[in-house]
Amino acid sequence: MDGVLKGQTEERDREPGGEVEALQGRAGLLPLLPLRGLVIFPHMAVPLDVGRDRSLRALEEALRTDRHILLAAQRDARAEEPAAEEIYTIGTVAEVKQLMRLPEGPVKIVVQGLRRVRLLEFVQSEPFFLVRVAEVEEEPVAAAEADALIRASLRQFERYVEVSRRLPAETVAGVEGIGDPGHLADALAAHLPLSLPEKQELLETLTPLARLERVLTLLTRETEVAELERRIQNRVRKQMEKQQREYYLREQMKAIQRELGERDERGSEVEELRERIEACRMPKAAREKALQELARLERMPPMAAEAVVVRNYLEWLCALPWSKRTRDRRDLQRAARILEDDHYGLDEVKERILEFLAVRQLADKLRGPILCLVGPPGVGKTSLGRSIAQALERRFVRISLGGVRDEAEIRGHRRTYVGALPGKLIQAMRQAGTRNPVILLDEVDKLAADFRGDPAAALLEVLDPEQNHNFVDHYIEVPFDLSEVLFVATANVLYAIPRPLRDRMEVIEISGYTEDEKFEIARRHLLPRQAERHGLQLAQVSLSDAALRQLIDGYTREAGVRELERHLAAICRKVARQVVEKQVKGVRVTPRTLARYLGPARFRRHQAESEDRVGVATGLAYTPFGGDLLQVEVSLVKGKGRLTLTGKLGEVMRESAYAGFSYIRSRAERLGLEEDFHEKLDIHIHVPEGAVPKDGPSAGITIATALASALTGRPVRRDVAMTGEITLRGRVLPIGGLKEKLLAAQRAGISVVLVPTENAPDLEEIPPSVRRHLRIRLVEHMDEVLDEALLPASEVATQAEGADGTAPEGPQGETFLPPPPEQPWVEEAPCAG
Ligand code: ADP
Repeated sequence: MDGVLKGQTEERDREPGGEVEALQGRAGLLPLLPLRGLVIFPHMAVPLDVGRDRSLRALEEALRTDRHILLAAQRDARAEEPAAEEIYTIGTVAEVKQLMRLPEGPVKIVVQGLRRVRLLEFVQSEPFFLVRVAEVEEEPVAAAEADALIRASLRQFERYVEVSRRLPAETVAGVEGIGDPGHLADALAAHLPLSLPEKQELLETLTPLARLERVLTLLTRETEVAELERRIQNRVRKQMEKQQREYYLREQMKAIQRELGERDERGSEVEELRERIEACRMPKAAREKALQELARLERMPPMAAEAVVVRNYLEWLCALPWSKRTRDRRDLQRAARILEDDHYGLDEVKERILEFLAVRQLADKLRGPILCLVGPPGVGKTSLGRSIAQALERRFVRISLGGVRDEAEIRGHRRTYVGALPGKLIQAMRQAGTRNPVILLDEVDKLAADFRGDPAAALLEVLDPEQNHNFVDHYIEVPFDLSEVLFVATANVLYAIPRPLRDRMEVIEISGYTEDEKFEIARRHLLPRQAERHGLQLAQVSLSDAALRQLIDGYTREAGVRELERHLAAICRKVARQVVEKQVKGVRVTPRTLARYLGPARFRRHQAESEDRVGVATGLAYTPFGGDLLQVEVSLVKGKGRLTLTGKLGEVMRESAYAGFSYIRSRAERLGLEEDFHEKLDIHIHVPEGAVPKDGPSAGITIATALASALTGRPVRRDVAMTGEITLRGRVLPIGGLKEKLLAAQRAGISVVLVPTENAPDLEEIPPSVRRHLRIRLVEHMDEVLDEALLPASEVATQAEGADGTAPEGPQGETFLPPPPEQPWVEEAPCAG
């Protein structure tokens, strides 16, 4: 081989005429080049790599002679040294057209297929295969049939080239001119990506039409496959294009934003939000919602109004305590100590709170009722709530419900509203920062319902342990778990709490403080606290006992100690200024100097009358500020039996005035009155302090007493006060707020109090210090009241102001009275009787 293969490139075209001759000349003997994984058809020019030793020798032999060589495929492409039987017996005689030998690697040749031959016999196998071959005859073809098949095949091929895009378009032109079906079949087969057995089969199909038909079948199949492929590719491409497009646009947007100097801020903002969302361990629903909104935010231009809304929303979500909680401290003794340290008195209230906490500890999951502290302002409800939180070592948040009429205040506004916010509960949770705080629902009795929905119903849902683990605020939109919150409610009056709410509550009533209690609270708690708050030592601000009592009496009018605390703060403020400005060591406040700090006293308690008077009776009233005296005046003038009521009296009080009047008429004889007395007189009943609305039935016996006094001319004892509802027949019915009323009576210097017999059980809660100063007389009937309160007629000392005709000005009713002030007097719950 050396000699021949040394040349780098050799090329030689031969006359086609000489080939047969040459073949015959060697009696049908040809060197064989086994092909691995490919079939060479006649007419095809194909480049080949020749590397195997035997193949190189066969090539050398071919070059040495007439350059003809037999190309036949081996059945197993992987066989390095195929045996004779492993080689297909139909092959193609080819001429070596070109040869290129590179310094290293295989020899490259280009062969041109000539015609099919059959391999008859292996003459030798070393150093190369030498085989004997025979020409194969192709059958003649009917022209018409061939034409149709050729045309169909060409059309199909054209389609194939178009669809598959695997071949250049010129390929079609290359085969178009071939008029021989066998030749065309070979040419087309050479272009198709067929498997080796398929190609070999075509090579072995010696009938030209059958071969072309087979090619057409394969061509059709390949076209279909190509079409399918193309469709799949199209789909994939479209998807890719969409993604790429989005990516591209996003990048472009980033670039624009960067140019505008916005991008960095934005990107870091979104990242920061994402980190926060991950950090606050939300439940799944909330987290998904948050990420969804974040994705939305990312897509928005940063200055869009909507982006602000979404950002706020995410801020809210991240700020909520989804998973943070404090650990409950379960030490009842400590709780008792905290309550004791912060609050004077209130023994029963403290007891009840400790019981409540104990039950909660035992039945943790069995969620009990909600604690509700009911009492006038300033009696320590809020501060008790705070102590409960402190005892449990929970966070404390107060929600004020006073005047809440819109459901959205509880449950939030939908985000579609401009300036929407979550409701008070979610706000409280954010403020608490833990999911198990103590939440004080302040003034649940001041909830109101109207067309904006029923906040009480919303609150009910919040308090319901069955529902509140899935509380949905309109703004937040995803459920938040409120079940670990300890709710404590407060109210001023029980009857005003919406009924369904009240049913869920364990009510603890706190009544107002006595003067002595206020005194102690101020000494022990309020003054030290205020001194400290103003940076003073307790020794620097000393208040004499008398001054403190005067402060309580003359400057405050309340059941609790709020105003008292405010005044003490005012004193501390002024003392602090003196200490700083005048370098004094400390200040002692006495009754004489009190006015210097607080101005003149504001209140004059209703004191007992200084004389026994006709037509004036003293009642006892229960107001949000505690108890107070209530004067009822009756004046008579000649007339035609008109009954006038003034003093801003409510419906219930007016009715009880009529009832009292009817009773007096029925008792005319016993009282020594003329039977038709009412026809000759006009009667005017007035309850002074007309600017303050008054209502409730408990002034009934007081009005009747004043009437009886005016009509009989018998004076009313000035040291007697009374409270009780009256029936038409003169029975005395029980009333509410007895403790407050008795406190007021004692303060005012009354010595005898007439109280309905049915209120006897309430007397137990009256402090001994109060009872000691009062003679409490239980009465069942109006007759007893009159016996007790009226003096004999002979002892008349003075006439009531109105008796001489100087009735309070204003002819009729309340129409001329000034409008009612903010705080109405409410005598008691209308249902309290
Ligand atoms: P409420 O919530 O009932 O209106 P607060 O709790 O706001 O009343 O009480 C007003 C002030 O009076 C608070 O500073 C509170 O600490 C104080 N206070 C009320 N009652 C007592 C008490 N029994 N002992 C000590 N301080 C009290």
